[in-house]
Amino acid sequence: MRYYLDYNASAPISKEVKDYLISTLDIVGNPSSIHHSGREAKKVIERSREQISSFIKAEKNNIIFTSGATEANNLVTRNFDKIISSDIEHESIINSSNISKVMVTSEGYINLRHLEHTVRNIKDKHSTLISIMFANNETGILQPLDEIVKIAKKYKVLLHTDAVQAVGRVDVDFNNVGCDFLTLSSHKIGGPKGAGALVVKNKNCLKASLLGGSQEYNLRAGTEALLAIAGFGVAANSNSLDQVKGLVKIRNNFEKELLKENKEIIIIGKKSKRLPNTFMFCIPGISSNNILIALDIEGFEVSTGSACSSGKIEPSKTLKAMGLSENIINSSVRVSLGPYNTTSHARIFAKAVKKIKERFLKY
Ligand code: PMP
Repeated sequence: MRYYLDYNASAPISKEVKDYLISTLDIVGNPSSIHHSGREAKKVIERSREQISSFIKAEKNNIIFTSGATEANNLVTRNFDKIISSDIEHESIINSSNISKVMVTSEGYINLRHLEHTVRNIKDKHSTLISIMFANNETGILQPLDEIVKIAKKYKVLLHTDAVQAVGRVDVDFNNVGCDFLTLSSHKIGGPKGAGALVVKNKNCLKASLLGGSQEYNLRAGTEALLAIAGFGVAANSNSLDQVKGLVKIRNNFEKELLKENKEIIIIGKKSKRLPNTFMFCIPGISSNNILIALDIEGFEVSTGSACSSGKIEPSKTLKAMGLSENIINSSVRVSLGPYNTTSHARIFAKAVKKIKERFLKY
């Protein structure tokens, strides 16, 4: 039996999305073509745009489709000379050139005083972007966006949030959030891989990064990934926060069972505001790598917070930014749950962890 506990890496595609993808395969046209088949393809794109816009309550024509969140993040950051961000962001933000990093508290939140100090001292405020994620992909910790928006507005600096992990798990209403740009990814909400979006308040402050055609309001050249975009829309449309209501109970159960069976386990950021589906735990004395592989053998698919694109396991930058000790950083793994997980998995998981722990710590 396999247990998939890695929804923050990628979520399964539902039958509804699969069926729609299959029907979309018959559409031959290029969305930019004027003829009937082209218009059919265009309709699919616009239907998806509509679905995404109602999903996050934004204006339809302010959704720019991209190949994923990585590209959406690049699209926005490349339009600014300076980025104010932190070490807990996705690599697509952290690797921006000319980035100023704000400190992170031991609870996993952006240090608001340091953020304000950094923003206040920036000379060219109009060419600066603040980019702070909505929720962290590793710990699930939710950032104090209300406060961050206040700072951005006070100093008239534009604000971007990578909401990839938050949408579908907590309420994300683009207008209520109050940011200027927001990033989404299809495969994190049960859509196909290869689509994402940048939601913008005002398209005029952006220029395209790719040279080419005038697709996506002149902001993302290239023939649209019809299938991926089609599935992205249906996934957004079928997403409901009701589905995640039970998740927090399941997550808490996982934590409770783990702690019951294994007293020395540490749950990272347990007291912080977190996504309902995510937790990160540490078994002191066993490397993240060993925990991950041993759990995989037992049938559980988890992740080290920062399993990077090469598949190589690296120490978590997020945990480092929170000031946690090397022992904790090097022995932590992430569990991220979704609608297919149940409370009964919690007990089985805790027993598997106990078995692994006893095996590794015997020597
Ligand atoms: N931002 C965050 C917070 C993520 O977790 C990820 C995926 N790990 C990305 C961006 C990149 O998403 P995509 O795979 O759509 O490029």
